[in-house]
Amino acid sequence: MEKAIKRAQVLIEALPYIRRFSGKTVVVKFGGQAMHEEGIIRSIAEDIILMRYVGIKPVIVHGGGEAISRFMQRLGIKPKFIEGNRITDKSTIEIVEMVLAGKTNKEIVALLNSCGGKAVGIEGKDGQLILARRTPEKKLGLVGEVEKINPEILEVLEKEGFIPVVAPVGISKEGETLNINADTVAAEVAGALKAEKLIFLTDVEGILEDPSSPESLIPTVTLQNIKKMLEEGKIQKGMVAKVKACQRALMKGVKKVHIISGRIPRSLLLEIFTDSGIGTQILP
Ligand code: ADP
Ligand code: MG
Repeated sequence: MEKAIKRAQVLIEALPYIRRFSGKTVVVKFGGQAMHEEGIIRSIAEDIILMRYVGIKPVIVHGGGEAISRFMQRLGIKPKFIEGNRITDKSTIEIVEMVLAGKTNKEIVALLNSCGGKAVGIEGKDGQLILARRTPEKKLGLVGEVEKINPEILEVLEKEGFIPVVAPVGISKEGETLNINADTVAAEVAGALKAEKLIFLTDVEGILEDPSSPESLIPTVTLQNIKKMLEEGKIQKGMVAKVKACQRALMKGVKKVHIISGRIPRSLLLEIFTDSGIGTQILP
């Protein structure tokens, strides 16, 4: 009996948050190794479905660099990188698109649907969602940055109760297919939809003062703190693109951005429906 009362209490504690976020868009970016682990991704899918059922409108953007590299190896092609950025030539972009939009995307869609959602997978070409241009770093090849997001397709899907799942592949005015960093796409999509929140699920707990020590988690940072950390070289590798994406999203009007670990069970629910919050929240 006591246990049952406690359970009911948990629901009531979530009420103010449900009231605040119901009807609002929350963009969630799936990343890290965690997104390739069946158990973890299923639990995240359940959290997303719960969000949808209390009236929150989730939009998913996913990465998948790991899956691309693995598939290239199966085909006997060696992936090449410059400072952690993938060099994307003509045959690589074909694999990028096939794996991200054809495989990873559909796995997430199928999982969300098997948990009771109505998910639809798209990439940047669908409904002209992501108009992109080549990055100034020419040696990376067919890598793009977002020129414009056309959010209509997402709005139509949201309105009808679908959960859009976006693969980070864009198309240029010239019709070139371009590989885009998923953090950047998530930020631009969140900005275009005027999302209430943008949440990055990754392998680390959040922004760390010292990347080698999980105890050095920074619970709250402002854009100014981030600028300083970047200058001091405290943010490196994949986290650079992520914090830049946070800056961009906040500048475009997203209310709050979170970086949290996808490995902590129920991390999305903890972050959205409780006061305690986990990971790092980034404020303007
Ligand atoms: P994702 O697949 O989610 O985009 P990335 O590997 O691209 O993840 O980026 C996250 C990684 O950035 C972390 O796993 C960590 O190794 C690295 N990193 C560098 N500096 C920091 C920092 N200050 N705090 C946290 N992580 C950092
Ligand atoms: Mg990354």
